[in-house]
Amino acid sequence: MLGQMMDMPLLISSLIVHADRYHGDTEIVSRRAEGDIHRYTYHDAHQRARRLANALHGLGVQRGERVATLAWNGYRHMELYYAVSGGGAIMHTLNPRLPADQMSYIINHAEDRVLFFDLSFLPLVEVIASLCPAIKCWVLMSDRAHLPATTKIPGLLSYEDLIDSHSDDYDWPALDEKMASSLCYTSGTTGNPKGVLYSHRSTLLHTFAGCLPDGLNCAASDVILPVVPMFHVNAWGLPYMACMVGAKLVFPGPGLDGKSLHDLFETEKVTMSAGVPTVWLGLLAYVETNKLKFSSMRRTVIGGSACPPAMINIFQRKYNVHVVHAWGMTEMSPLGTVASFKPKHADWTEEQREALQGRQGRPLYGVDMKIVDDEGKTLPWDGKAFGNLLVKGHATLASYFKNDGGDPLQDGWFPTGDVANIDADGFMRMTDRSKDVIKSGGEWIGSIDLENIAMAHPAVAMAACIAAFHPKWDERPLLVVAKKPGAELTREQMLAFYEGKTAKWWIPDDVVFVDAIPLGATGKMLKTRLREQFKDHKLPTA
Ligand code: AMP
Repeated sequence: MLGQMMDMPLLISSLIVHADRYHGDTEIVSRRAEGDIHRYTYHDAHQRARRLANALHGLGVQRGERVATLAWNGYRHMELYYAVSGGGAIMHTLNPRLPADQMSYIINHAEDRVLFFDLSFLPLVEVIASLCPAIKCWVLMSDRAHLPATTKIPGLLSYEDLIDSHSDDYDWPALDEKMASSLCYTSGTTGNPKGVLYSHRSTLLHTFAGCLPDGLNCAASDVILPVVPMFHVNAWGLPYMACMVGAKLVFPGPGLDGKSLHDLFETEKVTMSAGVPTVWLGLLAYVETNKLKFSSMRRTVIGGSACPPAMINIFQRKYNVHVVHAWGMTEMSPLGTVASFKPKHADWTEEQREALQGRQGRPLYGVDMKIVDDEGKTLPWDGKAFGNLLVKGHATLASYFKNDGGDPLQDGWFPTGDVANIDADGFMRMTDRSKDVIKSGGEWIGSIDLENIAMAHPAVAMAACIAAFHPKWDERPLLVVAKKPGAELTREQMLAFYEGKTAKWWIPDDVVFVDAIPLGATGKMLKTRLREQFKDHKLPTA
């Protein structure tokens, strides 16, 4: 017997319809690539998204075709999120930090038909335009006054002209909820990047779970500033979650430095934010140097790479900003686990609670996980045994776009490529990415733990731990450190800092100092580059 409830498909358009209807006067504030601040409401956003949906139709974009963006976080990008997916096409967010050859590979692989871009990316688009012949139309996300006199981009249109020439008389189509809605490519540190194709259904289920109190905890009373870019796994779903709950949104545009962010946090009374640890390092350094505070911010989500305990400590104790440590990946839409408390943790000491928050956390509803050894045997949840982390879920990938790489699943589970342990309460702790693990005499050493210890040293700005060749042990840890400006730190002082904080045989064999740790396109440390740089490093213990 079937249930007798209404059959309403889970569609992305329903989010903006809801936000307009019940939170129509709630603001969306953006720092634009043009340099000024723009503000309007959910009602305005919905109206312009409908005009844009008509405009896309006018450009000949068909259902299932890909529309690409090269854009910062801003209101026009948000309009595209809804107009493209809501109208039945596929929103493809490109990471502008990728090199031009990877970018053109991705555009051609995705067969993007139209490409929308922010003013800042004009020089980049002038380079890639001739490499992407399948793109029928290029649109500058600005007004006619900003249209450049370029001959390198054929038939360039302005976004505002495009919208102005269409009406908002548009009914969102009743699509099948399993239809594809958006596309993100993985960072692809080895081999070509692969596409992850989300559906309306997976996006909506991810949005519900993400809004939960033990998820990112979004509410209508929040003012949310996603620092995480809208080209990095849909800003972790925040542009959808904000609509679902009707929260005010603040988009930082290209201004991701400490001052620009802090100014927006204060002037717009931001209550929550989200980003990778490297962004928060910059913000904290600015706030520390200028002896500032966060007067409205209550919590921040930190993920994408391990959040160092020292960062949790300073945000919570010095600035009264609660840290929500989250783990996930592009293939999971991206949220997998969040480190949020259970009743039994209420009377734990602050140190114990912070240590728990240093774990990557427990799964949100809709995610299942397990750890297995190299033979695929399931390992116990005792907080000690560590192995390969496998996941499954409503918003987890089943196969890559165009089936690149064949079937990625193992008995129905997706192998994350991460190595982790899980404690009896289901809290996962990631010890490493499998390709970053250091294997010393056949035993694994977790580089994340070693980096976290180094990051707690007051002179360290950033630290990465990589494997260096050792004639006896095969590999031993080498610590690469970028010092804070003006700070003094010697190799011996750094190594002495490890005494008593980890097993003796885990302590790095050597320390090298660099001006800066190289970062990848999503702000994560590029260990591949460091391994290449230090491949001939002679350890003093060798
Ligand atoms: P991406 O798909 O580019 O976002 O990368 C996903 C990968 O980032 C994961 O498989 C992890 O290796 C890493 N990652 C994400 N969140 C965390 C976290 N909280 N701690 C450590 N690593 C993380």
